[in-house]
Amino acid sequence: MTTAKHVRVRFAPSPTGHLHIGGARTALFNYLFARNEGGSFILRIEDTDRERNTVEAVHHIIDGMKWLGMDWDEGPEVGGDHGPYTQLERLDIYHQYAQTLLDKGSAYYCYCTPEELDEKRKLAMKRHLPPKYDRRCRSLSDGECKTFEGEGKRKVIRFATPDRGETSFTDLIKGRVGFKNGLLDDFVIMKSDGIPTYNFAAVVDDHLMNITHVIRGDDHISNTPRQILMFKALGLDDIPEFAHLPMILGSDGSRLSKRHGATSVIEYKSLGYLPEALDNYLALLGWAPGTEREIFSLEELVKEFSLGRVGSSAAIFNPEKLEWMNGEYIRATDLDVLTKEILDVDSGEAPFIKTAEFEYLKSVVALEQERLKTLTEFPEMTKFFFEEDVEYDQAAWDKIMTQEHVPGLLNGLKDKLGKLTALKAEDVEKMMRDLAAEMGIKTSLVFHPLRVAVSGRMVGPSLFHMVEVLGKDRVLKRITDTLQLF
Ligand code: GLU
Repeated sequence: MTTAKHVRVRFAPSPTGHLHIGGARTALFNYLFARNEGGSFILRIEDTDRERNTVEAVHHIIDGMKWLGMDWDEGPEVGGDHGPYTQLERLDIYHQYAQTLLDKGSAYYCYCTPEELDEKRKLAMKRHLPPKYDRRCRSLSDGECKTFEGEGKRKVIRFATPDRGETSFTDLIKGRVGFKNGLLDDFVIMKSDGIPTYNFAAVVDDHLMNITHVIRGDDHISNTPRQILMFKALGLDDIPEFAHLPMILGSDGSRLSKRHGATSVIEYKSLGYLPEALDNYLALLGWAPGTEREIFSLEELVKEFSLGRVGSSAAIFNPEKLEWMNGEYIRATDLDVLTKEILDVDSGEAPFIKTAEFEYLKSVVALEQERLKTLTEFPEMTKFFFEEDVEYDQAAWDKIMTQEHVPGLLNGLKDKLGKLTALKAEDVEKMMRDLAAEMGIKTSLVFHPLRVAVSGRMVGPSLFHMVEVLGKDRVLKRITDTLQLF
């Protein structure tokens, strides 16, 4: 009997900045696949590009992943049996593997200077040839090498890519993919400063970390034959399966970028998005659930996810859909939790939120929960609930309050509302409908002026509930204040 292999996948970001939408989608698909399979999810920091990678970016990535609720089984902060999980802490390991390749004749030292390489590149371009390294150092004699060493020349290690044949693999998403070896370069695996390059370090780590599936963006597909060739050259037979995720494009069909709105996950946090909504939306960027249903909690995604349902064509990032989905999540959130989230996201620009009495804030949240699409819209939508003086929207005033019957109506309303002990929504509604009938006018002619008087606006939540939440004192005061303006 054969037992199924324990699935081990990794998310391997290069820490250059915040966790962006594309990276988060890759992380999420790895996470969902691992959890669905009962496997392990590993976070590995690929920080070998010392000019672009920073320690702060590692923190940003970790924060983004935590916010999205993706926990990892091995990696920074949690450790594990296959560490260290940061590549710059693994340099000795890469040197050993580079030595193995050198010993096997699958890699060689290259002493060409950057200037020489530049010359060669220019020459190739002139001849309309691909700017590939001409393999000059691949056939250096021991003597020549010794001479260069004696001169103290700087050297890199290059992989000796086979000239002939094809390297192919069956991608779990794209199907069979093949590359002619002759088109691949003798790429550098170890730089002159002793730091490995991505393609090499990733192979060593995927091997030593027992990675069974490499799930990553399809911009890496052309790296795959190089990586497979290195596994083979090292004599390793644990080549992982590959699944290359489709690109994410903006709605105009170009690669997702800043132009299409927020691109980092944490920016979405400050824009008032809920992590559950972002997870759900990211999951749909390439993965199709196979039903009409679109709303899935993270647990449900774990249950439903399969690589077989990931499509190979590009996914379109649609900010309106994400916003709609966020609204769905806001509506489904428990009121206490939602109120706390609103308090949390408020950056202090709307001080009335932080200082509001919690129960009052909660009753305002309850009124707006239906309409809210992002948490950050809340202060602007509701400031009249909290501020002492109402700001009247000019258009609302001109349209509604300039009607002849309004001052008399407001006086009448003030009187009738004053007689109610507490402003219960149903009582207020009944009183106002009766009043409209008494005055022989349409209900809207009674409702709208009260709305503008108490909120300054033409649109908002249900008028009667709004009046109930504002409470008798505020409502009467606002009507009195409004009357002074006539
Ligand atoms: N460090 C690479 C990146 O951030 C990882 C690619 C891979 O998953 O192999 O794109």
